[in-house]
Amino acid sequence: MHKDIATPIRTKEILKKYGFSFKKSLGQNFLIDPNILRNITEYAGLTEKTAAIEIGPGIGALTEHLARSAGKVLAFEIDQRLLPILADTLSPYSNVTIVNEDILKADVGEMVEKELTGYEDIMVVANLPYYVTTPIILKLLTENLPIKGICVMLQKEVGDRIAAKPGTKEYGSLSIAIQYYTEAETVMTVPKTVFMPQPNVDSAVIRLIKRDKPAAEVHDEEFFFQVTRASFAQRRKTILNNLTSQLPDGKQKKEGILASLEKADVDPGRRGETLSIQEFAKLSNELLPLFK
Ligand code: SAM
Repeated sequence: MHKDIATPIRTKEILKKYGFSFKKSLGQNFLIDPNILRNITEYAGLTEKTAAIEIGPGIGALTEHLARSAGKVLAFEIDQRLLPILADTLSPYSNVTIVNEDILKADVGEMVEKELTGYEDIMVVANLPYYVTTPIILKLLTENLPIKGICVMLQKEVGDRIAAKPGTKEYGSLSIAIQYYTEAETVMTVPKTVFMPQPNVDSAVIRLIKRDKPAAEVHDEEFFFQVTRASFAQRRKTILNNLTSQLPDGKQKKEGILASLEKADVDPGRRGETLSIQEFAKLSNELLPLFK
């Protein structure tokens, strides 16, 4: 096996060789601890029959672990300066394809079709750029990609919100948006010392496994997400107050909103944070005719 990229010494050597300077604006905090990388790869459950999609390979720290465990790795890297470095550091691995694109603009479905057909499962595995964590995860979940799940490093605070259960202060519209599509859990918390340079926030690894079908039956997804966002607009307010003040013409439609809450078995005095995804689904289905 080749020497790990992700040791402090080797990482410094590579950065020096290429005169590479970190771009904070691209969320460049590279991992320099092989144990953490082994753990992430294990939690992702990769085998030779699995393909991995990576976002932001950096200098290849995680990529080489994925290449050792998975059948194939498809990695999207926005920073062109990293391409010659990756060509060098990943030269021992023939099963890696690097695409120089912004993941948020890339046609991931087309790339998957081109590069990853024939694999039993596809997992997204990454140490995400923290400035775009949520848009990346939501893109991967809403574009109907043939992925089994997502196992990624992110800000601990965002991970806590994603995996939160009803009745907790972290639970909100982000928890619902993600848990509607997946089963979410935090598998590891990670100290700042395993990064170069060290980020300002604590980190965690979460694992999201896509559900066969969404967690609840929703008649109009866009409206369902609008209702959940409205319900958390002011956390201390009751669900009735939030819905009347946030939904279009909500104040005029108060009677209808009250009737929908009753039909959905939701006490108007409850707060959004106490409702399960199923309750939000029922409620938004009842409210739908009033707003669409
Ligand atoms: N995987 C490497 C590691 O763990 O050491 C680097 C992780 S670093 C936190 C995030 C990486 O994502 C950087 O290499 C950065 O250039 C890249 N990146 C930032 N924004 C991106 C985007 N929109 N699309 C693709 N890659 C991006």
